[in-house]
Amino acid sequence: MYPSGNATAFPVLVNSKSIMEKFDVVIIGSGIAGSVLARRLAEAGRNVLLLEKDSFSGQTTACGGLFDKAYYDRYFADEALIEQKIKKNVFIMPWGEVVFDCDQVTVKRRNFDRGLAEQAKEKGAVLRNRSKALDYQIRENGAVTIRVKELEQKTEYDVQTKIIAFADGPQSLARNNPRFNSDKHKRFWAYAYAYETAGVPFEPDSIKIYLDKELFPWGYGWIFPNKSDSNIGVGTVLAGKIGNPQIKKKLFHFIDVYKRTAELLSGSEIIDKKGGFIPMYLIDTFADDAQVVLGDAAGMVSPLFGAGIDYAMDAAEACAPVLIKALEKEDFSRAALLEYEQIIKKSFVADLKKQIMIARIIVSSLKFGRHWAIKILAVIAFGVKYSRWNKIKILFYPLLGKPDSLKSVLENMNHK
Ligand SMILES: Cc1cc2nc3c(=O)[nH]c(=O)nc-3n(C[C@H](O)[C@H](O)[C@H](O)COP(=O)(O)OP(=O)(O)OC[C@H]3O[C@@H](n4cnc5c(N)ncnc54)[C@H](O)[C@@H]3O)c2cc1C
Repeated sequence: MYPSGNATAFPVLVNSKSIMEKFDVVIIGSGIAGSVLARRLAEAGRNVLLLEKDSFSGQTTACGGLFDKAYYDRYFADEALIEQKIKKNVFIMPWGEVVFDCDQVTVKRRNFDRGLAEQAKEKGAVLRNRSKALDYQIRENGAVTIRVKELEQKTEYDVQTKIIAFADGPQSLARNNPRFNSDKHKRFWAYAYAYETAGVPFEPDSIKIYLDKELFPWGYGWIFPNKSDSNIGVGTVLAGKIGNPQIKKKLFHFIDVYKRTAELLSGSEIIDKKGGFIPMYLIDTFADDAQVVLGDAAGMVSPLFGAGIDYAMDAAEACAPVLIKALEKEDFSRAALLEYEQIIKKSFVADLKKQIMIARIIVSSLKFGRHWAIKILAVIAFGVKYSRWNKIKILFYPLLGKPDSLKSVLENMNHK
């Protein structure tokens, strides 16, 4: 059986040339996952269409733009798109700070994603901006039709492909296929809202993350420096309970009222604002007949840190060779495409599942009081920074006084 995006077959629409275009792979979404996949497929000489609903990649993407520098270096030989090189992650909690060394960068997604999409185009992928995938239909193995809306002309047309890759972010069209969707996922969403504000309020090689029940029982506020401005945001896994407007209000609180940040941020000029959902679950399987799902569309985001850039790149790198092989063998069955799933299961899926389990434990701990989630996160995620006695102090804080963190540990921080 070949599930369709739509229960009823749609009548075929062709473009003005009256010939339906055919591609080896159509990728929906030119975010990080989509553009990296398109580049790799185009480098292998494959005929790829990359569809993007926005005027350019990254235009409306809400993001802090922080990730490991090694991932930047994988795609760009020069550092033109780096805003800042980050050497320290400072986590600020009610009882004090822990500092981790790191080797990360900040980027502006509207520049970075555009850069990745341009690379895919230079390698030969067909990039169509303002082109939204509306629906898809899988007629038989290797015959997929996708309905595209050209948002400028407000016209619709169909394209044909052998494989469809869903890299269309959290609200993915892949959810129309029951195999990639289930009710149990629906409860687990985070929402984050971020501003870009003029100026960098502290040493530009550090990022600061604030965990405090005054901000959220579980969630955090962040300040990430760019070149001449900062990305400031708040996000929580309790988005469903709190509501998105309350999260925006919390950002005002973080900037103007919260005592640890108000003196750094109050009165800052706002340059840009964006919010977005972060999936806090992984889908159960990542491939089906003639279909693959990657990046946020598949829930590949750390539920502890809301970070998904590195995962999106890893997923695209794992997916590309499997699609190339499927095209060579003309076998687009689920069995053939499941090799992609096997690769990511070996590389990062097990780790993500562990993080999801920890996140669920942390959320459940809120039953015992608003302060428990941050305490448990500190003990589990930052435990390497505290001796056993200091972990006990955290759990009983403030009864036993403030814990001391260990100054130097070998462990580096990455947000995966
Ligand atoms: C506020 C916020 C802050 C974050 N900060 C960080 C951070 O600092 N570090 C980090 O690692 N992660 C962060 N994340 C998570 C990170 O942004 C995502 O994990 C990452 O963007 C996933 O990349 P992707 O390519 O899978 O999806 P996306 O970046 O969401 O790209 C999907 C693309 O598909 C396009 N699209 C969607 N639907 C269609 C359609 N039907 N047709 C055509 N195009 C379509 C979209 O316009 C978009 O360009 C943050 C998320 C939020 C919300």
